[in-house]
Amino acid sequence: MSKQKLRVLIVEDNPDDAELLLRELTRGYEVEYQRVLTDEAMREALHNPRWDIILSDYQMPSFDAMAALEVRRQSGLDIPFILISGTIGEETAVGALKAGAQDFMVKGKMARLLPAIERELREAQVRRERREAMDEVRRSQRRLSGIFSQVAVGIVESDLGGKITHVNARFAAIVGRSEAELMDKSLIDFIHADDADAALEIVSDIRRGGRSFVTEKRYIRADGSEVWVNETISVVTSADGTPELLVAVVQDITDRKRAEEELRVAVKVRDEFLSIASHELKTPISALQPQVARMARLVREGRLGTVPPEKLEWMLGVVNRQIDRMNVLIGNLLDVTRITAGRLPTVRQETDLRELGTMIAGRLQEAIQKTGSSFIVTANEPVVGSWDPMGVDTVISNLLSNAAKFGEGQPVELTIEKIGERARITVRDHGIGIPPEEQNRIFLRFERAVPAEHYGGLGLGLWIARQIVESHGGTIAVESSKNKGSTFVVELPLQGTVPAQSTPPGPAHEPRTGAH
Ligand code: ADP
Repeated sequence: MSKQKLRVLIVEDNPDDAELLLRELTRGYEVEYQRVLTDEAMREALHNPRWDIILSDYQMPSFDAMAALEVRRQSGLDIPFILISGTIGEETAVGALKAGAQDFMVKGKMARLLPAIERELREAQVRRERREAMDEVRRSQRRLSGIFSQVAVGIVESDLGGKITHVNARFAAIVGRSEAELMDKSLIDFIHADDADAALEIVSDIRRGGRSFVTEKRYIRADGSEVWVNETISVVTSADGTPELLVAVVQDITDRKRAEEELRVAVKVRDEFLSIASHELKTPISALQPQVARMARLVREGRLGTVPPEKLEWMLGVVNRQIDRMNVLIGNLLDVTRITAGRLPTVRQETDLRELGTMIAGRLQEAIQKTGSSFIVTANEPVVGSWDPMGVDTVISNLLSNAAKFGEGQPVELTIEKIGERARITVRDHGIGIPPEEQNRIFLRFERAVPAEHYGGLGLGLWIARQIVESHGGTIAVESSKNKGSTFVVELPLQGTVPAQSTPPGPAHEPRTGAH
């Protein structure tokens, strides 16, 4: 059987002693060796750190074991060092052991040498393995803390009672606080009050043996704002399975929650709108149907000629008004789709607002007066500018029909004037008014501030008006209070430039909404 290799660094001045030593060693090993006599030679030899063991004499003319031990220490190498001396006093031996020698023995009594070497090699091997294991632990700690501090998700570690023991920078950013502010605090203090019970429930579940949880909850940031998170909580247990720590991986999902909420509101608004729209579209049909049925019966029975002309005209008047109403509703719906699709036709041309206003007033006069309102138009001078007459017609018509609808029986006033480089259109009524908190909302799509059962309408007129006014670079505003009437003021620049978002003219330029 071939012997194990042993690389020995011998620190010994006496060649005969070295020879004896080697003879002993070769009984157990295939020996490779180098003999050094000085400090420098030993340092040189240790540059190549391949030695399994150092065997050193105690006292030499130009070197000694204590100095050799110091050279080994400085090299940082873990090579077992055995002191072999002619005579060793107890004090010398203890000194050497204190300085790091692994063992000592007396020259000529070498029976213990081989077993001692074997033991030292084994122990050095154990030390090496432990060192490597520690290095590996340190490396993985570094890796982990790199991940911990740099991942894009928040991580928070707490004890079972929720006291924070570690957070990463991302978690601190999510909850809007510094890492130092969070340390040793209780997590529950930062959780939204409405979500605190669910968080405490998880703590009880952990006591009952639960080990992993996924929840959505809100934290409150230092500035008071809410942040929605998705949290995966894991329980870290000790070797015997006892829960020790909680680690939560936390993702900010505020944007998703906001989008979900917006979607929910949008769906609700759309559903409400659909139900109002179907009601609104059905109302004129219900009014139309009996008149048409009556006329059909008269024709069928050959009695049409017997009906007095005023009566027939009245019946046709009902039919016409309902058709007009349908037209307005459908026109509104079409405008909305065109505006949303960016296809609202805007054809600007030189337009006199006084002329246009007077024409609209003439068209709506009858309908307004039918509600019992008087109608006062003030337009003392021509107000000429470059506008889309169809669009401006829609704006004025929508405002007037609202004034008639919500100011029933009270005077409705339309004023058109020139103020500097702007045209101002004022529509005033003395009706139900609009509470201040509703005044922004009514310009939004589908928004109404009155109950559907009292007033018809799709909640579109003002939104459409605003889109048209803004596409002319103008403004629309309301001044009103409850039961005190409303004043809508539209201002249009006389020669407004078309803003960038303004829509190109569409192919068809059919009339849009008229009176409601
Ligand atoms: P609608 O066709 O439903 O009237 P609008 O967009 O024209 O839709 O108006 C939106 C809401 O604004 C109305 O439902 C009403 O609550 C309120 N509103 C508009 N004009 C007036 C007004 N002159 N007086 C009181 N409330 C008004």
